[in-house]
Amino acid sequence: MAKAIGIDLGTTNSVMAVLEGGHLVVIANAEGMRTTPSVVAFQEKERLVGQLAKRQGTLNPERTLYSLKRFIGRSCREVAAEIELVPYSVVSAANHAVRFEIDDELYSPEELSAMVLRKLADDASSYLGETVHDVVISVPACFNDSQRRGTMDAAQIAGLNVLRIINEPTAAALAYGLNRKKSETILIFDLGGGTLDVSVLDISDELLEVRATAGDTHLGGDNFDKEVADWLAAEFEKRHAINLSNNKQALQRLREAAERAKVELSTVLETQISLPFICADAAGPKHLDVKLGRAQFNELTAQLLERCRAPLEAALAEAKITAAEVDEVLLVGGSTRIPAVQELVQKTIGKRQIKRGVNPDEAVALGAACQAGILTGELKEPMLLDITPFPLELEAESGLISKVFEQNTAIPTRRTQLYSTAEDSQSALSFQLLQGQPELAKDDRLLGQLKLAGITPTLRKSPQMIEITFELDANGILNLSAKDKSTGKEQTISLSRSINFAKTELAQIIENADHLSGGRQK
Ligand code: AMP
Repeated sequence: MAKAIGIDLGTTNSVMAVLEGGHLVVIANAEGMRTTPSVVAFQEKERLVGQLAKRQGTLNPERTLYSLKRFIGRSCREVAAEIELVPYSVVSAANHAVRFEIDDELYSPEELSAMVLRKLADDASSYLGETVHDVVISVPACFNDSQRRGTMDAAQIAGLNVLRIINEPTAAALAYGLNRKKSETILIFDLGGGTLDVSVLDISDELLEVRATAGDTHLGGDNFDKEVADWLAAEFEKRHAINLSNNKQALQRLREAAERAKVELSTVLETQISLPFICADAAGPKHLDVKLGRAQFNELTAQLLERCRAPLEAALAEAKITAAEVDEVLLVGGSTRIPAVQELVQKTIGKRQIKRGVNPDEAVALGAACQAGILTGELKEPMLLDITPFPLELEAESGLISKVFEQNTAIPTRRTQLYSTAEDSQSALSFQLLQGQPELAKDDRLLGQLKLAGITPTLRKSPQMIEITFELDANGILNLSAKDKSTGKEQTISLSRSINFAKTELAQIIENADHLSGGRQK
């Protein structure tokens, strides 16, 4: 069987790995690096992906696209906070779909993520000496159906075959647990560039079972950068009475300096931020030279840290265990290097040692490669039992909401429910399908409109009974089917998704995507 690789398609960086001779190894990219920035840049004649794209970002902020994962499978209404974080143009297309406008052309997050995936697969193919087609891709555990489908679509556009979508904390646990003989309950705290996931799992040699997962899909290292960058802009304005908010190049430099300072403050107590020639006025060029201490960084980001607490507590509560019952705690994702984040986790779990044996940047890709090895038969165990992070609900036209799946239900799973027509001669049924954190507004949980048409009308008092089967597959993706109970006939059921591509649309994009690995063509 052909080699299948694992891909951690990250908000900031992506990593790929493979199982080779029974060992999990990270695959270096064409530039020789173990991580690849998830960045795409458009230049006049060329399109750049990865390090080269990232490097020219300051000079080309409006055509350098990063943090794509914050937008994938989401509507414009959901990403108001993320739009604030980026210097490029995000526009709302039909059905509030997110599009990036670059030189008068519109691109979807899926198409741009496909460009990152294509580079990764090309580089892996060179490394392995064979064309990589089959992949396991990781996503945050708290990705909903649309975000998972969006990731699948990106892979399809890149010409890849997705063997499985795996949850990031689950993948990290898999990498950590491989070849360990003990049975343990572990807690994974995964804070990356754009998302926070907390999962509680039971792991043994044969079985990895996720007990609970909670998270925040709007929280990651980018938010910490933004706080520092805003502070830098305020400092600059204080000193020079110049507001930088319309100077995209300057803002991009502040953002990059903020990230560097943040990373340095993970190891030192104070850092110097020096930015020469940020802008100029009649009196000449203006520079910024400031010191930032760790204590002040902690103050600037205190409310972000506070947001980490709730998912941590929710995951433990959902798993119905106390912190004392957790055997191991694993930190995953680059942002868990922030000392205050580590302290927060440490405080919650008490005296227990935090494991530092896994590399927080690589654990997820290694786990995805492990799952690829299991699916291709190279590895036998462990068997993986994951869960769905959100409840799935159905709202009838009457406004009545019924729950199809509870939060933290083991997947794959299926459930069949009966629905009946309510009026004479009713030939169609329609529902709204909702998935998301229950505290979110209904609009933010809406997956789409579910329609059953062509029901044979009957007289009242003998309503037509329609059986709908909801299936959450091992990828956490929803599949639907329906049957007319009286005739036993399959009934057409359609979910008009507000965000994801329709099949025909996707086919068209795939057809046009033959330029993915080349230069910029149209
Ligand atoms: P990941 O998605 O796991 O690659 O995490 C990327 C995020 O981790 C980015 O926001 C990085 O700025 C952040 N990061 C990486 N290294 C460090 C560090 N040493 N201290 C703080 N944040 C870091």
